Amino acid sequence: VVQMHGINKWYGRYHALRDIELQVQPGERIVICGPSGSGKSTLVRTVNLLEPFQQGRLDVCGVEVGADEITRAARLAVNRRVGMVFQQFNLFPHMTVLQNLTVGPVWGGGVSRREAHERAMHYLERVGLLDQADKHPAQLSGGQQQRVAIARTLCTRPQVVLFDEPTASLDPEMVNEVLQTMESLAGEGMTMLIVTHEMGFARRVADRVIFMDQGQVIETAPPQAFFDAPQSPRLQAFLGQVL
Ligand code: ATP
Ligand code: MG
Repeated sequence: VVQMHGINKWYGRYHALRDIELQVQPGERIVICGPSGSGKSTLVRTVNLLEPFQQGRLDVCGVEVGADEITRAARLAVNRRVGMVFQQFNLFPHMTVLQNLTVGPVWGGGVSRREAHERAMHYLERVGLLDQADKHPAQLSGGQQQRVAIARTLCTRPQVVLFDEPTASLDPEMVNEVLQTMESLAGEGMTMLIVTHEMGFARRVADRVIFMDQGQVIETAPPQAFFDAPQSPRLQAFLGQVL
């Protein structure tokens, strides 16, 4: 679903991604972790074509992009196939929950209003928020808002969903409801690329865990090997701090 070959990215003179090689198979769940500033968000945003890159090739859901070749058409095509859930929900504050869910499919995806409404109700039920459809985001808790954001992404029927620290701005008591929603998605075979510091979640849900440091992928392994037998000293030190 996602293939990154030799991706290098600079912000000005700062080398933010170094020689990234990443292949994501359909149905795979990949968790990315690493210290602050290691390039996790940059990597995920590159997959979504939100960030240009200067070297390498990217294939996202069959859309192939080379360095400095990101066209509007490619970005639109990728947006149709790839969902993204952010740390800060990014819901439209002036719209109801239901409108937040239908606006993308109707305006961006060429879906009829009726179909968009049916999808919205279906996915709201999936995330346990059917009774909140007519509220505005500000009337919901952080955990509820993030579940709305997940439902909104699902309404676009993505082939892969990217999550960038989806629980990082939530109060602790709301973290689990969001992780459980993500876990149930994983159980249905959704392809997911997840940046998170929730190591228990990574252990339970990930097929592979990736450790990044200073713009590089330092280590990639299935969760058991990753957590129980980390190879690189940098990962050992990182796990020592977060576990
Ligand atoms: P965090 O855990 O804090 O979210 P991260 O691993 O997601 O960190 P990135 O946000 O990808 O890290 O940033 C990687 C590096 O690139 C950092 O050193 C950051 O300062 C730099 N960076 C990120 N975005 C930009 C930008 N728009 N312009 C310049 N530098 C940037
Ligand atoms: Mg980040």
